[in-house]
Amino acid sequence: MEKRSSSEALLTCKCPRCREGEMFKYKLLEKWFSIDMYDKCPNCEQTYEPEPGFYFGAMFVSYAFSAAITLTTGFVLYNFFGNPETWVYMSVVLVSLAIFWPVMFKYSRSIFLHLFGGIRFNPKYSD
Ligand SMILES: [Zn+2]
Repeated sequence: MEKRSSSEALLTCKCPRCREGEMFKYKLLEKWFSIDMYDKCPNCEQTYEPEPGFYFGAMFVSYAFSAAITLTTGFVLYNFFGNPETWVYMSVVLVSLAIFWPVMFKYSRSIFLHLFGGIRFNPKYSD
């Protein structure tokens, strides 16, 4: 079997060390609003919390996702829906963020663990 690339592992929320084990107990399409995360990789037992409070930093990534969703929603409403009232902007942005928060949560943690977790890929653990 061909080895998964690091970006593929990041995008599929896999363990950064073995690139096989799941980070989260459920995939997005299985249970959209479930964000249960394993403490360790189910495949190689790599811990997913390198230090206490590690995922505070993931809030910055999540903030970037929120800003992107807000700006995209604003752009679409302004250009394709004739610049509606302010309450429409607020409602659509809030609903969009409410729907997409599990995506932002999982990807911000996956991005943060892969980029700043200090865990290197070890082919010994992937087979
Ligand atoms: Zn692993």
